[in-house]
Amino acid sequence: MKTLIRNGRMALDGCLQHLDVLVEDGRITAVGSLGEVLVEREIDAAGCYVLPGFIDFHTHVDDQIGPYYLADTYESATRAALENGITTLCTFVTQGPDETLLQAMARARAKAEGQSHSDVLWHLTPTTFSPADLATLKVLLSGGYRTLKLYTTYKSAGIYASYDRIEELFTSLGPLGSQFLIHCEDDGIIEAVDPTGLDLSKAFTHTRLRPEAAEIVAIQRVVELALAHRTSMHVVHVSTLEGARHLVANRGKGDLSFETCPQYLFLDESWLAREDGHRWLCSPPLRGDRLSFLELIRQGAADIIATDHCPFCTRDKDNWNGQDFRVVPNGMPGISALPHVTWKIWEDDPDRAAMGLATHLSLNPAHRAGIGDRKGALQPGMDADIVVLDPRGPERPLRSTSADAFEAFPGFTSHLAFRHVLLHGETRVQDGRLTQPAAPTGRLLQPSPASLSLA
Ligand SMILES: [Zn+2]
Repeated sequence: MKTLIRNGRMALDGCLQHLDVLVEDGRITAVGSLGEVLVEREIDAAGCYVLPGFIDFHTHVDDQIGPYYLADTYESATRAALENGITTLCTFVTQGPDETLLQAMARARAKAEGQSHSDVLWHLTPTTFSPADLATLKVLLSGGYRTLKLYTTYKSAGIYASYDRIEELFTSLGPLGSQFLIHCEDDGIIEAVDPTGLDLSKAFTHTRLRPEAAEIVAIQRVVELALAHRTSMHVVHVSTLEGARHLVANRGKGDLSFETCPQYLFLDESWLAREDGHRWLCSPPLRGDRLSFLELIRQGAADIIATDHCPFCTRDKDNWNGQDFRVVPNGMPGISALPHVTWKIWEDDPDRAAMGLATHLSLNPAHRAGIGDRKGALQPGMDADIVVLDPRGPERPLRSTSADAFEAFPGFTSHLAFRHVLLHGETRVQDGRLTQPAAPTGRLLQPSPASLSLA
């Protein structure tokens, strides 16, 4: 079927232009002032921005974290995503304590297959590094996988990697095209904090247990290693002004990028001081004064804005005795709030906000995820994942998730309305609702390990 999108203002080549876009067989086939074209369907995008489908680069979905199971399935997470213009969801496969990475991948694929409304791409989180594990990673990298996540903290959860380990992996896997995603909080600094005398009944104390210095030092260490080994590296969920500045200062010296998350821009540590402040526990923690940080991000410092969506059930968040908040699971939902809160970074200038979404939610994450040849821009040959966004819809409250998790942005509202969201050329969302909720058509973007002769 041929579809023509007319009359919108389209993000193309770094600016907004009045152009039409023609879609056929799931791909964009032409962009320009197309005049009369014989098509089966026309979408009138008058008053709207026409943007490449968004990518949430950092989410946790349908997984067990410690003793807790996340509230979102692939079905509910990708539904919330697509209804808000997110056509590709990047999420993690984390190797569990008694399994191989391939077994973890098989679990995730079985849950996502046939259930996903958006496309899905996995970042791999290996946690053991035997010669067999490394051999598997090499085959996966040669077969189209690209992003590996490493943690500089969480020893007790069994996912910690020392700086020596990180350096070893930079050396062995970096030359094979691996992009490293690093959670930066220096475990030594966190371990050295003495909780004696701190009030563990107050969630606010979390800011003392995981201080800004832990993030800043870890960023400095991994930047040094990445530059020394010429490794491609992306730092996830940067929350500190100094950490972000360090990355900006070093960006030109190598292939470095970073993301921040809406909660680090628009929620500060005062949320932890609320009666129900434990719900806003996440790591790294919410921080103090946000104005300078927000200003730096407004100037375009972050490559990617992503959610770190990690939706614990309200009952699991609330199930503690008020004595020691350290038992409360860390993380908050965010998928369906992502474009709305990102828009707020530049909301006094709607055109800049629209370009902000095109750059930080689409172009840059597509490139970093290794799918920049088919996603992230509205150019002929690319997947026709297209958002027709009306910036002047009726005001409505933000929802971070459709799952059974608390609201991370209570009191926040948005005027953004998703008139049409096309996935592979088909309108899957109209006026913010799935057109065929019972028939998910999202694709798993990476080859199955079986097709790489691995499973
Ligand atoms: Zn995360």
